[in-house]
Amino acid sequence: MKKAFTGLTLYLEDRVLDHAFLLVEGDRIAGFGRGELSSEWDREDLSGLSAAPGFIDIHLHGGGGHDFMEPDPASILKAARAHLEHGTTSILPTSCTSSNESLFRMFDATRRALSLPNDGARIMGIHLEGPYLSPVMKGAMREELLTDPLPEYYEPVLERGGDLIVRWTAAPERAGALDFGDLLAKRGIVVSAGHTTASPALMREAAKHGFTLATHLYNAMTAMHKEGIFRVSGAAEGALSSDAFDVEVVADGIHQPLEILNIAWRVKGSGKMCLITDATAIAGAPIPADGKSVLAERDVLIEDGVAKLADRSAIAGSVATGDVLLRKGAEAGIPLPEVVRMLTATPARIARLPDVGVIREGAFADFVFFDGSLSVKKVVKGGRTVYDGKERL
Ligand SMILES: [Zn+2]
Repeated sequence: MKKAFTGLTLYLEDRVLDHAFLLVEGDRIAGFGRGELSSEWDREDLSGLSAAPGFIDIHLHGGGGHDFMEPDPASILKAARAHLEHGTTSILPTSCTSSNESLFRMFDATRRALSLPNDGARIMGIHLEGPYLSPVMKGAMREELLTDPLPEYYEPVLERGGDLIVRWTAAPERAGALDFGDLLAKRGIVVSAGHTTASPALMREAAKHGFTLATHLYNAMTAMHKEGIFRVSGAAEGALSSDAFDVEVVADGIHQPLEILNIAWRVKGSGKMCLITDATAIAGAPIPADGKSVLAERDVLIEDGVAKLADRSAIAGSVATGDVLLRKGAEAGIPLPEVVRMLTATPARIARLPDVGVIREGAFADFVFFDGSLSVKKVVKGGRTVYDGKERL
């Protein structure tokens, strides 16, 4: 099948091209450009819409009422579908701090999901968030499950899930974390510093031991604060001031004020910073009238556009989707092509995901089409329209 989407404003890697067409053959991009098309192409006129590569979210826990740790492939696929309907076509389902047994169940369910037909976002592998995190920076994680990254704990996990694990978040200050970083880097796993009290000096040391990414910048990590009469920097400044680190930011406008999003972009640039949802199961699902819900076996409250622990002591996770990140990035005053890059090519590079995140001949034909108000009108995955307005196809 030779298909052409025409009349588009295209967000390419290095420029924006208007009055353009996109060509698709099978599940891949066959080209793009301007001007006349020969009659062999089956055309679909999408005048007035913009097209970008489908969004890539490398940190999200669920959506559509389902968590990626539910030991049921159907739940995983429903969560992947919820995010696709908001423009995201590639994801790294992310674990919460949990026992090894729960991780094994996640691996098994994910493998089964990968073998089934999927009308949702592509599952590109798994991001493990913990359990080797700082108890001081635990956020919504369960403290009794936090531990040091010691071989007796992580070796069985690598054995059972090594082929699925794309990324692992750990706190560099935990005993054994630097050796752990070296080992993961050698195995090609992206090592991310998060839920951490690491000083800038320790962050720089961690960078020599495989750590290349900072997990949700400014959330669950130290930042500039006063110790005695002096101000000291924290892990956030360590990541921002070192070229060794890429950063990801929860860009829902709630986890970070929009000024912080803008500042982080000014410091890192769109080539070294990506936007994530850190979405919980609630993202893309109807909100109950009383706001009460359950996340990872804990009571939470959906309030102020975010999920909080029931006692309101911490944010438990976001309810954002990819389209929210696009709008918030623009609202923060960041030029749209830069926002798009932080949702596409940059997360693909950071997580080393091939053939996605770019409009380039030979890459997967995964696109999000949005209008002037940045709302998603259509999503194409592997050359096929999988979402077209409100109705589930
Ligand atoms: Zn998370």
